[in-house]
Amino acid sequence: MASEKTAPLGYDDTPFLPNSPWRVHDGRRPQPRIVTPGTPSTQEKPGLPPSDAVILFDGRDLSRWKGRDGKARWLVQDGYMEVNGTGNIETIEHFGDCQLHLEWAAPAEIKGSSQGRGNSGVFLMGRYEIQVLDGYNNPTYADGMTAAIYGQYPPLVNACRKPGEWQTYDIFFVAPRFEGDKLISPAYVTVVHNGVLVHHHQAIMGPTGHRRLASYSEPHPPTGPLMLQDHGGDKVRYRNIWYRPLKGYDEA
Ligand code: MG
Repeated sequence: MASEKTAPLGYDDTPFLPNSPWRVHDGRRPQPRIVTPGTPSTQEKPGLPPSDAVILFDGRDLSRWKGRDGKARWLVQDGYMEVNGTGNIETIEHFGDCQLHLEWAAPAEIKGSSQGRGNSGVFLMGRYEIQVLDGYNNPTYADGMTAAIYGQYPPLVNACRKPGEWQTYDIFFVAPRFEGDKLISPAYVTVVHNGVLVHHHQAIMGPTGHRRLASYSEPHPPTGPLMLQDHGGDKVRYRNIWYRPLKGYDEA
């Protein structure tokens, strides 16, 4: 049969999929790249990233980060980095659509309350904050609690671990699209906190602000840095930070 020669794995006489060059079960459709999966983290030690991850922090140094006045100066020890009052830090590398993994721990010693307890933040593209806060037995305004899209959406549930324990964020982010000055499509984010879904393909209203309504008042580039917040020197720790650019098998 001719179809066996040209398409040994599938078919070449089936209908075309809508808006696609490929047929149903198309034998010529490219195979997805192979990625070796990572391993899960435990409280004792971070897991291994998947084989195609871009490592932003592996516990050793801040060579991929910069700070307020050039060098990133957060404390690095025992496989983690810790906020120390020297200001926000951000990655030298800029990226857009991504799968991002990071782990953080609020200070074991409980100090302060509401927004004043273990506050930090993960700023996607340097603009869109997923809140980091000690939200374990620590009430605060809902759209500012742990894993909130700050000032916009509370997480679906509070999945916090106790202060001092390592927690995970797995974030799936789609950058906003602009055409000239016009917003074509907002940013979307899915967030999994400690294995629990807390935002599902949530449209973001605009760059994060404080006490104001967020909006896409001006366009920005398609990529940006990952920024981590130094909020008044709250000694939040981070470890095992990596991302994978989101690219489909057809775009590789
Ligand atoms: Mg914050």
